[in-house]
Amino acid sequence: MDSEDQIEPSPDDKRLYLPQHEGWEGRVKSNSTKEYCYYKSPGEDYFHLIVIGEIYLIRGDEKCCLNCAIRHGVVTLDRLHWQNRVRRKKPSVFNPGSSSSKG
Ligand SMILES: [Zn+2]
Repeated sequence: MDSEDQIEPSPDDKRLYLPQHEGWEGRVKSNSTKEYCYYKSPGEDYFHLIVIGEIYLIRGDEKCCLNCAIRHGVVTLDRLHWQNRVRRKKPSVFNPGSSSSKG
């Protein structure tokens, strides 16, 4: 029963993944300028201060702490996110008729 294609997610895996990573960048807060998370937690009436040394995400002007990123589904701990969701269909049909000469 060798399943070499199957990657088992470890319960100790603390890595974070962005299924829709386009436009997002990871940053480390490295100065004392006050910056706030773009989102509020449910029931809270304030934006989260991003503190020095904190890892956060940024997309354009939108800063997002990791808590909010996880809550909003921007970030997942699911290593197999790329398997569990249907992205786009691969063009798996071999088309011998297409004469696409590159270069
Ligand atoms: Zn936040």
